[in-house]
Amino acid sequence: MLQTVGETETDIENATDDGIYCKACGEMVTRSRWRLSMDGHEHVVFNPAGVVFRILCFREAPGIAERGLPSAEFSWFKGYQWSIALCRGCGAHMGWRYMGESEPPIFFGLIKGTLTSSPGGAPGGAPGGKPKSDGRGGS
Ligand SMILES: [Zn+2]
Repeated sequence: MLQTVGETETDIENATDDGIYCKACGEMVTRSRWRLSMDGHEHVVFNPAGVVFRILCFREAPGIAERGLPSAEFSWFKGYQWSIALCRGCGAHMGWRYMGESEPPIFFGLIKGTLTSSPGGAPGGAPGGKPKSDGRGGS
């Protein structure tokens, strides 16, 4: 009559669907477990043109394709060079990839507005489940 009440917490945590997806195409871009604090997880920044971005920092982003040569110009993170980060699925501009000498050597700053936690990218937010009605089925 032994019951093993387990230390399964870590397993549960790993099993959680914590994917973060491209809002435009539903490609999984990163996971919330890879969130990173670069003096804060979320940053509000602006580019030389005065456009404001709300970006989130992640240590990994497998759904990102990098484009262009790294630049140190107008970098929001001191000591880091940036290159453009695009969605692998649809090519949308998702943010920037940062490379530097300090820890961490690489991270991603992704624009909050391009991300969603639901794979379907449901507009207006139907909670859970993909809104995949293909018109057929007349009751
Ligand atoms: Zn995409």
